[in-house]
Amino acid sequence: MARYTGPVCRLCRREGAKLYLKGDRCYTDKCAIQRRAYAPGQHGMSKKKLSGYGQQLREKQKVRRIYGVLEGQFRRYFEVAEKQRGITGANLLRLLEQRLDNVVYRMGLGESRKQARQLVMHGHFTVNGQKVDIPSYQISLNDLIAVKATDKDVDAFKVFAESAAAKNPPQWLTVNTEMMEARVIALPTREDIDIPIEEHLIVELYSR
Ligand code: SF4
Repeated sequence: MARYTGPVCRLCRREGAKLYLKGDRCYTDKCAIQRRAYAPGQHGMSKKKLSGYGQQLREKQKVRRIYGVLEGQFRRYFEVAEKQRGITGANLLRLLEQRLDNVVYRMGLGESRKQARQLVMHGHFTVNGQKVDIPSYQISLNDLIAVKATDKDVDAFKVFAESAAAKNPPQWLTVNTEMMEARVIALPTREDIDIPIEEHLIVELYSR
């Protein structure tokens, strides 16, 4: 499937917000948006007031880029969210948060969602003991996500596990960094998703 392979810091500059796409670098003064806080391109420095539609579009792009999801797939998430009970915007974020690549990232076993996605695609993870290499796999309540037994001695995972121990996992996951596994003890709620998103703008965009 086609993926964006260009410079990722450019995406943050386009959205005018830190999307944390590059792992540890995002927390240093090397962050591109701190150095050049304007949109990329020839007219990036000229400030334009966004229309209502422009704001809605930018919010949708921001969320898509944070979770690394293509337009068609994002639209399908929205359609599922719309059919579920509750608030569509919150449902949408919850569905994205339940992606296996995001869960691996939330476990701390990947510097970024992009790296977590690669680890999943390379078959390093199991869900309830079964290998799963689909980044969009939706985790469910009580699922056990773990590094594959034969990979636990791999140096790279030991390093990941060490750095994961210093990170705060979300409340809906209990992470055992020594065992390199996590249990889903609740489904994520809107309050658990610590990203500044105005999801109602996305709902408005797709409701046009
Ligand atoms: Fe975005 Fe991270 Fe690049 Fe900063 S370093 S612009 S937060 S991807």
